[in-house]
Amino acid sequence: MLAPYPDVSYCTQICRSRCCRVADVWTLPGEELSYEFWSANYPRLGKDTCGCLDAQGLCSIHDGRRPLICRIYPYFKFEDAVLASLSCQYVREVVLPGITTHAVRDRLLREILEYIECECLEEQARLIEQNLRVRKGLFLLIRGNRD
Ligand code: SF4
Ligand code: SF4
Repeated sequence: MLAPYPDVSYCTQICRSRCCRVADVWTLPGEELSYEFWSANYPRLGKDTCGCLDAQGLCSIHDGRRPLICRIYPYFKFEDAVLASLSCQYVREVVLPGITTHAVRDRLLREILEYIECECLEEQARLIEQNLRVRKGLFLLIRGNRD
């Protein structure tokens, strides 16, 4: 069954952690972040590779305080739909070609929205969507029937 999110081996071995190597990681007001994130990334904004990426290509923040945008990437909520980042190899090469029926699309939409809604508040989802509007990036809007 097509999974909406890549597993660790896909990210580290096939994609080689691209989203953390060309990271444009930003945070939301009031978001509590780990000391590791701050010490690795600030004040050195503009670095390409996130300083929290370890030698195995994994995020070194394990205490639940990974930036929200990292936790929900490569999908973002837009009203009742999902914006899928076309910068993500798994989205481009696995998810999009795998959406062959409305039933598959609807199941993916449901699973992604459930995950995002567990991870972030409605207000945070709105702020992230507003931030995405002023940044570079190509997204595909996935709409469907959630019920
Ligand atoms: S860009 Fe997508 S496939 Fe690549 S490491 Fe990030 S989440 Fe995984
Ligand atoms: S904080 Fe972790 S998940 Fe986010 S860009 Fe850095 S290494 Fe990747």
